[in-house]
Amino acid sequence: MDSATVKSLARETGFDLAGIAAPGPTLESLFYPEWLAAGFHGEMSYLEGRRGDLRAAAHELLPSAKSVISLGLIYDTPGPSTSAVDTETQGWVSRYAWGEDYHDVIRKLLYELVERIEAAAGPFDSKVCVDTAPLLERAYAHHAGLGWIGKNTCLINQQIGSWVFLGEILTSLELQPDDPAPFRCGTCTRCIDACPTDALVPVGLPDGPSHALDATKCISYWTIELRGPIPREDRASLGPHIFGCDICQDVCPWNRRTPATDRPEFQPMHMLPELAELAQLTEQQFNERFALSPIERARYQGFLRNVTVAMGNSGNRDFLPLLERLAANPDALIGEHAQWAIERITAAP
Ligand code: SF4
Ligand code: SF4
Repeated sequence: MDSATVKSLARETGFDLAGIAAPGPTLESLFYPEWLAAGFHGEMSYLEGRRGDLRAAAHELLPSAKSVISLGLIYDTPGPSTSAVDTETQGWVSRYAWGEDYHDVIRKLLYELVERIEAAAGPFDSKVCVDTAPLLERAYAHHAGLGWIGKNTCLINQQIGSWVFLGEILTSLELQPDDPAPFRCGTCTRCIDACPTDALVPVGLPDGPSHALDATKCISYWTIELRGPIPREDRASLGPHIFGCDICQDVCPWNRRTPATDRPEFQPMHMLPELAELAQLTEQQFNERFALSPIERARYQGFLRNVTVAMGNSGNRDFLPLLERLAANPDALIGEHAQWAIERITAAP
């Protein structure tokens, strides 16, 4: 089977981007231990140790791998840039979480593509990966020609921008690799300038990643991954964010004219939720409302923690009665953040 046929089958399956990379270590994987050593991964312990070592190369996950088929699926929808919406009553949710959780959607498409390739090429070894597998997805996508890794550390495709989910098929098929996509950020620094927490730090490798994400300073990490308290000194920087952050992608010029998907799974359900409504959810209601959403990952306590911080940052005094109730919550994490929010609102002139 040749690479062109694989890419054509990928498009028939529904993927918007497809390319081939060699399965060996990449420049990005050589930098990965430095990123860990700097502590930029924070409390995300699943990125270190044995699961960190596996990220050295695709061979680690499938010893017979001869190629990595890298695939992209657009998730952009016509909604406004979240960070362009000014509101005192609603929370900002990262665009990728407006619709259903993408993991199952992509996994299903990846298995479907494996079946199509097998129907044409006969059986082969394969391993399907999407996000949770210990694989440096963006690095392989870059080397497969899908795009470059921008200074905002996202994969950017010249035609369709960065609102793209990635998935991979590691395969024993020997396929002709693509050329890596050239770096097209140039002298632009919009994402770095716009990041409210200075989480994008220069790496300075001559031919390697331009910038790295210090996750311990990133709003996405605080609102999704962090289980404990958000550092008090950083809470004001969260603004209205309650799940993830899109600022460094919203400002990117390559996202100005991005195509939207019509996939029903990714249509907005949780775009700009009302904070007052979220603050009154019980744990059971939270689990029901976000059962199919990536938001479920923040868990109830973490999500309520985020909601109280956004309420505090809104300066909206109408939230005070709800915050008083949350301050009395038996969960210390929620209670302490609600108390902080009350103090923030009442301290404002
Ligand atoms: S997601 Fe937000 S906080 Fe994180 S690097 Fe981008 S702009 Fe900064
Ligand atoms: S905003 Fe500019 S520097 Fe940042 S990723 Fe986009 S093009 Fe690159």
